[in-house]
Amino acid sequence: MSMTDTTRIGNLFIVSGPSGAGKGTLVRAVLERVPDVWLSVSATTRAPRPGEADGVHYFFLTPAEFDREIENGGFLEWAEVHGNRYGTLRAAVEQKISEGRQVILEIDPQGAIQVKRELPGSVLVFVGAPSIEELRRRLATRGSETQDQIEVRMQTAIREIELAGTYDFVIVNDDVSGATDKIVAIMDSYANQAPDSK
Ligand code: 5GP
Repeated sequence: MSMTDTTRIGNLFIVSGPSGAGKGTLVRAVLERVPDVWLSVSATTRAPRPGEADGVHYFFLTPAEFDREIENGGFLEWAEVHGNRYGTLRAAVEQKISEGRQVILEIDPQGAIQVKRELPGSVLVFVGAPSIEELRRRLATRGSETQDQIEVRMQTAIREIELAGTYDFVIVNDDVSGATDKIVAIMDSYANQAPDSK
């Protein structure tokens, strides 16, 4: 079956791992390669960074709006990450899967495990940096965090790496093109299955 075939089965892929491992870069590369992919836009209580637009990078909610969404059952999962709350909006994700799209969530490992528990057919992909030193170097050169924020993210990363064994696939992002190939291959292997072989 070709990648442009519109009869592919919808699936949910969760791309997760420490911040600085390069999840965002890989997901952007996958978006250019897989025609029926759809990236979920999360809600967050954190403030927009320069260049971020509401509804594009995130839906930026006030804490009260976020609470209301939790009460209404609007989140497939949500978690507090680095002092802010982030959540996946359930309705859009379910709609796109039912339309046969390859849905990607780029979320933290706490959220990833919640989704896997609720939707066991979802596919957990852990993206890791080649080493902890390399992770620190990438966070420092990205320049979007202060030194204190980098230290918090490093501590979180060490806890998250311990969860890698619970994932369906572990990808070491030592080379963007090779890592992208691996994610695309994983997605194709699920999307091209016959419906009764899932
Ligand atoms: P950032 O503030 O740098 O955009 O994201 C911080 C962390 O929050 C990243 O690890 C990102 O994957 C995670 N994140 C983004 N959206 C969600 C979400 O909807 N749910 C969860 N659990 N984590 C998220």
